[in-house]
Amino acid sequence: MGLEERSAGAVVYYPEREPLYLLLHYPGGHWDFPKGNIEAGETEEQAALREIKEETGLEVRLVPGFREVITYFYVRGGKRVRKSVTYFLAEAPSVEVSLSWEHRGYKWLRYPDALLRLTFDSTRRVLAKAHRYLTSLLRA
Ligand code: ATP
Repeated sequence: MGLEERSAGAVVYYPEREPLYLLLHYPGGHWDFPKGNIEAGETEEQAALREIKEETGLEVRLVPGFREVITYFYVRGGKRVRKSVTYFLAEAPSVEVSLSWEHRGYKWLRYPDALLRLTFDSTRRVLAKAHRYLTSLLRA
């Protein structure tokens, strides 16, 4: 059996007429949502909230009903790692981010710009679903 990793995070948005989405610049160069490893004894939701707080300082609110899982493989120390990441949808109380040392930078972007900025198709699909979900909630 190879190595396995599980992370959790969220598509974090700030509510405006056109919501702003928060992307982080990872040290490896890619852009993604806030996320991090699920620790022993933690639920996915707890891990997502803890990681978002650690990485951005934001105390977000998870929006019920949205959960997307992606899986990818990468190589770490010569070993293939199978990683799955669960993304929730979360509302930020403000746009004031205090970034941890774990990331190079961040941006709040409207949907089309966030789609362009994301590095991987899998996370772009997560954003598309989150945006559709959020838009349908706001119109309801
Ligand atoms: P975490 O935020 O979960 O602690 P990390 O910063 O350690 O994660 P990842 O963001 O998972 O690590 O990146 C690890 C490797 O996987 C990098 O080489 C990155 O380019 C690659 N990677 C990250 N996201 C994806 C994706 N959605 N699809 C394919 N490869 C990805």
